[in-house]
Parts: sequence; C-alpha cells; structure tokens
Amino acid sequence: MATPTFPKKTAPLNAVPVTYTAPKFEVQSYLPEIFRGVGLSMKHFFDNTREMVQGKRPDPVLDRYEAGITTISYPEQKRPYPERFRGVHRLTTRQDGSMRCVACLCCSTACPAQCIFIEAGEYPPGDKRRGYERFPVRFVIDELRCIFCGYCVEACPCDAIRMDTGHHAVPYDSRDQFIYDRDLLLSFEGAKGTFETQNPRHEPGEASHPGVTREHGHS
Ligand code: SF4
Ligand code: SF4
Repeated sequence: MATPTFPKKTAPLNAVPVTYTAPKFEVQSYLPEIFRGVGLSMKHFFDNTREMVQGKRPDPVLDRYEAGITTISYPEQKRPYPERFRGVHRLTTRQDGSMRCVACLCCSTACPAQCIFIEAGEYPPGDKRRGYERFPVRFVIDELRCIFCGYCVEACPCDAIRMDTGHHAVPYDSRDQFIYDRDLLLSFEGAKGTFETQNPRHEPGEASHPGVTREHGHS
C-alpha cells in the first residue's frame, strides 16, 4: 500500500526563521545563572542592611513591634466570615429530620461546573410523599470542581441546598476526599448551628399543601 503523503505547511508571512545552535556546557549546567542570581540576592541583602544601619530604611521587623503585632494565630483563631460567605454545601432537613431535597435536578442543571450528580428515587408505596416528590438516592458534589458561584442554592425551589456552613473546603491530600456524598452533606450544620432552614415546607396531607401531584396534577 502506498504511503500517504501530506502537503507541506507553508510558513506564515511574518514568520522569522531561527537558526539552531548547539547547547553549550555552561548554559546546560545552569551554574553561571545560579551564581548570578545568588550574587544579586546578596547585593540586595547587604545594601538593605547597610541602609537600615544608617537609618535610611525602616526596619521591617522591629518597626512592626512598635505599632503592635497585627496577626492572628490561624487556625486556632479565625477571622469571622461575612454573613453571605459561600462555604461548603450542606443539604437541609425538615422538621422530622428527613431530607428537604426532592431530587428535581434544578441545582445540577443550573451548575455551570457540572459538579453535582443526583440519582433520583421514588418513595415506597404507602409513603405520603410518593407521587408528590422524589428523593435523592445519591447526591454527590465534587467540591474540587465547584467554583462556589452559588447558582445551585439560587436554583433550588425547596431551600434544600445551602452554602451557609461557614466552612471552606478542608485541604485534603487526595482528590476523592473532595467528593462529598449525600450523607456527608446532610451531616453539616449551618453556621448558626442548625440543620434546618427558616423557610416553611408544606407536606402532603397538610391543609397548607398546594395539593399538586406529579401523577394527577391539580387536585
Ligand atoms: S456553587 Fe456553583 S459550581 Fe458549585 S455546585 Fe453550586 S452551582 Fe455548581
Ligand atoms: S437540592 Fe434543591 S434543586 Fe437540587 S435536586 Fe434537591 S430540591 Fe432540586
């Protein structure tokens, strides 16, 4: 079989040819550049030290002591985060402790980073929520991929997902530790120390429930 031939690319009009030069030993050894860099650092060190001794330059260490130390002992001490700080996610619960999430997929659809995965399931026969809503059998967020835009929180019609934990992601050392599953997300409480939300939820069977079912529409 004949070997296929490809047309040769022509150089762009503004291209400048570069001639190849064999690498020299002193360039490949990096030694001249290392000595040059160390020499420059030492020059600045001695220049700065001389100017500080002569009083021409403020002492960056001692001058700070005069003004008082302005630091905190992180992580034992932390600065308070703003009220609207977007921390790691949490899934909220209802009064009876069950999930508020109805697995509608609004959050995963709105997520620009596509880092939410939800597998929806049906409530068992006889459950008052069957036919009205579903629940997430699996709910996974890749916190490493998340850009913390908050769109998922805005998209949720049930106030089931929030970013008000007040915590930023812990610096784990492997990627799989940033995959937060449903039960982990449910275990986080809000920064104010509660698992619940302030927004009321109307359960099927209650007088305040709108009476809409997924199977039958308006009753
Ligand atoms: S905060 Fe933004 S990127 Fe992160 S899960 Fe929510 S929608 Fe996706
Ligand atoms: S968290 Fe909210 S938006 Fe996301 S699937 Fe659950 S109910 Fe729907």
